[in-house]
Amino acid sequence: MADILGIHHMSAISGPAQENLHFYAKVLGLRLVKLTVNFDDPSAYHLYYGDGLGNPGTLLTFFPYPGGRPGRPGAGQTTVTHLSIPKGAMAYWVNRFKQFDVDFDRPTSKDGRDAVRFRAPDGLLLELVATSDYIEPAPWTKWTVPHDKAIGGIHSFTLVEREIGPTRAVLEKDLGFKLVSENGGRFRFEVGRGGPQKTVDVLVDPDGPSGREGHGSVHHIAFRTPTSESQANRRQILLDHGFRVSPVKDRDYFQSIYFREPGGVLFEIATDKPGFQVDEPEPELGSALQLPQQFSDIRAQIEKALPKLELV
Ligand code: ZN
Repeated sequence: MADILGIHHMSAISGPAQENLHFYAKVLGLRLVKLTVNFDDPSAYHLYYGDGLGNPGTLLTFFPYPGGRPGRPGAGQTTVTHLSIPKGAMAYWVNRFKQFDVDFDRPTSKDGRDAVRFRAPDGLLLELVATSDYIEPAPWTKWTVPHDKAIGGIHSFTLVEREIGPTRAVLEKDLGFKLVSENGGRFRFEVGRGGPQKTVDVLVDPDGPSGREGHGSVHHIAFRTPTSESQANRRQILLDHGFRVSPVKDRDYFQSIYFREPGGVLFEIATDKPGFQVDEPEPELGSALQLPQQFSDIRAQIEKALPKLELV
């Protein structure tokens, strides 16, 4: 079971690309590590943010669909993406949220962790979590926040489900997570040593509304596996357990398989390799539009259709 290493990335449907770029690169201080298009719809951008190298576990990716209807949080969805910050950095972030007019809730302190919930301009719900086991992000030279305050990638996700049983079975039997606590309907699962990038919370809400996909909602979450061999093994196990699993899809920066867990949340298993330096070296990550091979001969057409974007 050691072939699921933790969280790889989160992908969400967002508001306009420029607004998204301002919020994640400027306000949150993440690095735009790849600017590309949706491989299934090259008329739309796909933006990837992460640490200085775009390491798995630090990646937030967005499909801007500004004309679409807004999402609604609820059962069958990933409702909160929790991001790690160093212990002691909370006051800095609260000040920064005030400075940039970010919609945030009063910070909380429980179970030994300080947290503050906030919303992206398109409504996506996020939370900063300050913990002592914070993982330092790979640095880069143009960060807009001091390195000792920087977001260290994804801490965990909260999924909302109507019942715990079926989702618990997938996390434990198919992905190698362990249930470590239960508190007020919140079930915490960890893989490996647990902590940041290795935790998933399932919040059980039997009677709440169903989630609806739209801008400001998470489209899917992805777990890490080291190689295409370990991914193939995992795929076979999922098929043997009766899941409908997609074929392996080449996403250029990793390879992916997808399946829906019984509560409705779309899960992906993505390989660590080849990573984001496959088409541009580290100093140039995110500095120009990169297209997959199959679109290279229609680059001019694609560029013309995409909204102009001013990199921050
Ligand atoms: Zn994905």
